[in-house]
Amino acid sequence: LGMPSVGDRDLLLAAPRGYCAGVDRAVITVEKALDLYGAPVYVRKQIVHNKHVVQTLEARGAVFVEELDEVPTGQTVVFSAHGVSPAVQADAAERGLKTIDATCPLVTKVHHEAKRFAREGYHILLIGHAGHEEVEGTSGEAPDSITLVETVDDVDAIEFGPDARLSWLSQTTLSVDETLAIVDRLREKFPQLEDPPSDDICYATQNRQLAVKEIAAGADLMIVVGSANSSNSVRLVEVALEAGAKASYRVDDVTEIREEWLEGVERVGVTSGASVPEELVEGVTSFLNERGFPAARAVHTAEESLIFALPPELRRDLRAAG
Ligand code: SF4
Repeated sequence: LGMPSVGDRDLLLAAPRGYCAGVDRAVITVEKALDLYGAPVYVRKQIVHNKHVVQTLEARGAVFVEELDEVPTGQTVVFSAHGVSPAVQADAAERGLKTIDATCPLVTKVHHEAKRFAREGYHILLIGHAGHEEVEGTSGEAPDSITLVETVDDVDAIEFGPDARLSWLSQTTLSVDETLAIVDRLREKFPQLEDPPSDDICYATQNRQLAVKEIAAGADLMIVVGSANSSNSVRLVEVALEAGAKASYRVDDVTEIREEWLEGVERVGVTSGASVPEELVEGVTSFLNERGFPAARAVHTAEESLIFALPPELRRDLRAAG
């Protein structure tokens, strides 16, 4: 089948990849809550968008629910890393639930920007994907002052006069290049458009895309480990293809790799989304090693050292418990 000889093969591992500071914090939050309060601890929505993480926490006693009406009164509920709207916070209070907010601080930052722009009379063009939990949470901060923009073409349908105060914000896990293209089109149509005070696409999303670009250009195959509902993981497949990878697939874990993807392939790149435990990546690289690919070479494009403190309400209870 024209398999190249072992000597020609290469296995490149993007660095950074995998867990970001927000995911790390959210997962530890649920683990510590389980230790402290005992099972069950309820979690609204998937704590992070990864199937394996959710299954592992479920096995330890976390109960994942879609909405708060599934949580019995008086119980503890953790809000996921993607954030919640003020309406959900209010609903939790009305239901007498104890809440722990694992919203990533970088998502909270976007909520604050939305509130401020709305307070100052701006209409906000929010670039993001309809139905994504983060977009629902951010939109809920100022529902009457936010219009969702999903694609460059969406811009055509947006109507505002030259005097309208307009600003834009974005979901934290988008493609950097695609977002810039949308902003360019918005600015063309609305020259008065005001920029956010800082990047909304988070450091982890940006770094993982840069790392993928670095190795995708010469790759015959780029494997992205991540779940189908993980926005940043799905973007990595798109970025890899745009950067020149001949093929790219997203897999939840090694069991989803198909042998035929490797036919005729010499150079393979591997990366993982921000919610993906490293052991899943190790499963993929071992599989490739067994099929004649050499030990993985990490290609470093950025160093990451950010760590977030746990939610204050959890820290308080941890201190009280001694
Ligand atoms: Fe926070 Fe970015 Fe990680 Fe999302 S991907 S949890 S915004 S650091």
